[in-house]
Amino acid sequence: MSTGKHVAYVLPVYNEADGIETFHKELVAATTARPDLRFEFVYINDGSRDGSIEHLLAMREQDPRVTVLSFARNFGHQIAVTAGLDHAHEAGADAVVIMDTDLQDPPAVSLEMVERWESGADVVYAQRRTRKDTFFKKATAGAFYYLLDRMAETHIPQNVGDFRLIDKRALDVVVKYREHNRFLRGIVANIGFRQEALLFDRDARFAGESKYPLSKMIRLAADGILGFSTFPLKAISRVGITISVLSVLAGLYAIAVRLFFPAHAVAGWAFLGVGMFFLGGIQLIMIGVIGSYVGRTYVEVLNRPLYSLALVAHGEHRQGSE
Ligand code: UDP
Ligand code: MG
Repeated sequence: MSTGKHVAYVLPVYNEADGIETFHKELVAATTARPDLRFEFVYINDGSRDGSIEHLLAMREQDPRVTVLSFARNFGHQIAVTAGLDHAHEAGADAVVIMDTDLQDPPAVSLEMVERWESGADVVYAQRRTRKDTFFKKATAGAFYYLLDRMAETHIPQNVGDFRLIDKRALDVVVKYREHNRFLRGIVANIGFRQEALLFDRDARFAGESKYPLSKMIRLAADGILGFSTFPLKAISRVGITISVLSVLAGLYAIAVRLFFPAHAVAGWAFLGVGMFFLGGIQLIMIGVIGSYVGRTYVEVLNRPLYSLALVAHGEHRQGSE
């Protein structure tokens, strides 16, 4: 067994039975270019219901560099990646590479990341030059990144997913972020260190379909904005001030009409009705904004574990080989 640097791949799997073995073959084929490194492939089965776990355990039988962690239910992509990072951190990996298991993130790019890391980068994130996704996905992602960039206090690079390499030093900090509603790319952007972008072309999914339906995407977007910005809270007082100023002006107008043109006094029924619903709507939205932050606070106060593991099958790295 080689004694080079330990590079751990963190690979979340949710219902990928159709493509996972092909994925592993391609990844392994790409990594043979670097026999000087010690690779570990940490697969996290995120409560798949399609037999992905059998494929993973079979892969581990054949390749001792495979580690399998299996969740007791589906916890979501961000939590699956977190579990993989925790494992790699405990195993003392020198660097981790986070990568999707549907071949949308090309394995060859991860080796370019390793080269950048070797020349001194602490974080190398893959930035999409092009992507083969639906128009809807591209449009919603574009709108989300625009909003996030305007609101977030940390600069979070655009067109960047979770495909990235993280050095041990940076990983030590990342694993300390234990928020429950996680937006990992924001967390990584937040820690500082030397971060570099690597441009790549994102492929289409190799098999199966996206496991990120609109509802999960909205949740992730909310986690990004609520987790890294208090702008929505500040916006409440701004909206309030604007409406108050407008209502004072409207009041002055009504008084002026009454004083100077008593014959035309402002008839207010329609205005009153619309205004009431308008204000009611605004108030409910604002309560919702506060509610979102209160809800997040509540979840953090409960401080439940982030995930529950049903099965852990360590690869060779744990069995005393260093
Ligand atoms: N994934 C996961 N848990 C989930 C949803 C997705 O672990 O609840 C994994 C999935 O197997 C894949 C990666 O996260 O490796 C990205 O998911 P997907 O390709 O469906 O997202 P998209 O590329 O469409 O954004
Ligand atoms: Mg995908």
